[in-house]
Amino acid sequence: MKHVIYIPFDHLHRKHGALKGADPKSDLIVFVESARMTTGRNWHKERLFFLISSARHFAKSLEDEGFKVEYLKAATTIDGLKEITKKHGALPIVCAEPSSFRQYESLKKHKVTFVENDFFLTSRSLFKLWADEQKSYLMENFYRKQRLRLNVLMAGKDPIGGSWNFDKENRVPPPKKYEGPAYLEHKRDEIDKEVANELSHVPTNTWATTRKGALAQLKNFIDNHFAEFGPLEDAMTTQNWALHHSLLSPYLNNGLLHPSEVIDAAMKAFETGKIPIESAEGFVRQVIGWREYVNGMYWFLGPEYRSNNQLGANRKLFPLFSDPGATKMNCMKEIGTDIQNRAWVHHIPRLMVLSNLALVTGTNPQEFLDWMREVFIDATEWVMVPNVIGMGVHADGGAMMTKPYAAGGAYISRMSDYCKPCAYNPKLRVGADACPFTTLYWDFLDRHRETFAKNHRMSQQVFGLNRLSDLPELKVRAQEVLKGLEQGII
Ligand code: SF4
Repeated sequence: MKHVIYIPFDHLHRKHGALKGADPKSDLIVFVESARMTTGRNWHKERLFFLISSARHFAKSLEDEGFKVEYLKAATTIDGLKEITKKHGALPIVCAEPSSFRQYESLKKHKVTFVENDFFLTSRSLFKLWADEQKSYLMENFYRKQRLRLNVLMAGKDPIGGSWNFDKENRVPPPKKYEGPAYLEHKRDEIDKEVANELSHVPTNTWATTRKGALAQLKNFIDNHFAEFGPLEDAMTTQNWALHHSLLSPYLNNGLLHPSEVIDAAMKAFETGKIPIESAEGFVRQVIGWREYVNGMYWFLGPEYRSNNQLGANRKLFPLFSDPGATKMNCMKEIGTDIQNRAWVHHIPRLMVLSNLALVTGTNPQEFLDWMREVFIDATEWVMVPNVIGMGVHADGGAMMTKPYAAGGAYISRMSDYCKPCAYNPKLRVGADACPFTTLYWDFLDRHRETFAKNHRMSQQVFGLNRLSDLPELKVRAQEVLKGLEQGII
């Protein structure tokens, strides 16, 4: 053997990363299941099951191809690599650039050689070229540039459909009665059962753990959900846990699918004429826009970015985050239960309910970030740091987003069916029946009135605040709500 190729658990693609051009005659493939990764934190078991079982299946597929594969358990990745050196001698170790600052530094220190991380459509260096030219890092500008560069949904220099953005068409509330196609289930095999046993976990059949299953999930989305994806992408309903979301992010983030494969399949379907432009554009925006932008920003903003707390938010996490029974807020109860069941909810519950609550209550951004990393199936470090610190809780002082995504109960009421059976009323901001979101939204604006008065994109909200006649009463109620959330009784 001439090289060791080390495969992190989010580089599971035969044609990308360090495996591109790998040769069974000269390359020893190494996977390390580190205790740091499996037991180091309070990880959701469904998430661990998915990541470990996917890696073990992938290791097996390389063995079947004729590679010599070492899959070992060790306290840390570096301990595992040291064991490999002891066993096989001091072979050079190669890896694709890892996807977090921490892993990048520790592998670099261990003298691992990196090849470019090509699990994205925009490389880190290409993103930096774009970001260096910007006054503000607007996702929309980045996205349009990628549409042009990658020639996706373009008619020459113009966007197909005559517009870059169909967000207005894509904000339809959930239908009263939703009858969508059933979601794909994935059968469990011996490897899955072995991992489940080790974790003492009963997995759902929601997540595939093989390349074949991930491709089946892609096909299922294209055939059964893509056409209706766009208009309902922001809707939240208790009648169906996923609506028409693709459920592809776990596979994109662990490497079982590459974004180019997903975009190719989506464009092929669009060309048949059966996919409306608002669905096609909404999906492309997520894959070549948001996803690439967030990864680019993670590397561009640097390792210190995750420690930002520019709104001085220091409240501890409320019990409702780990226990959906510790609240009477129906939205939080439903979303918390969904997370416990499948380690997944779509982007709007994450942004407009969970992050919104952390934002308006002044919850510590790093505590909230850690929790988000632990509970979601697709929550890699590069995804969650910009999404939480920049977008979710505005802890970066607006470096990424020009204004905070704070909202009262009216938004949640319009976009979901959570509010009708709730103990609270989204229209009320004071009194025992007032929706906690509505009360805390105004309290949040008031606490940061001076900061937001300087932001022209917040002027309308601050103007609204100045017209509230019941602000003193609202401030008293806000304190009651915060105390009740701490006690798990609101
Ligand atoms: Fe959530 Fe408020 Fe609606 Fe209740 S009324 S479900 S707390 S938004």
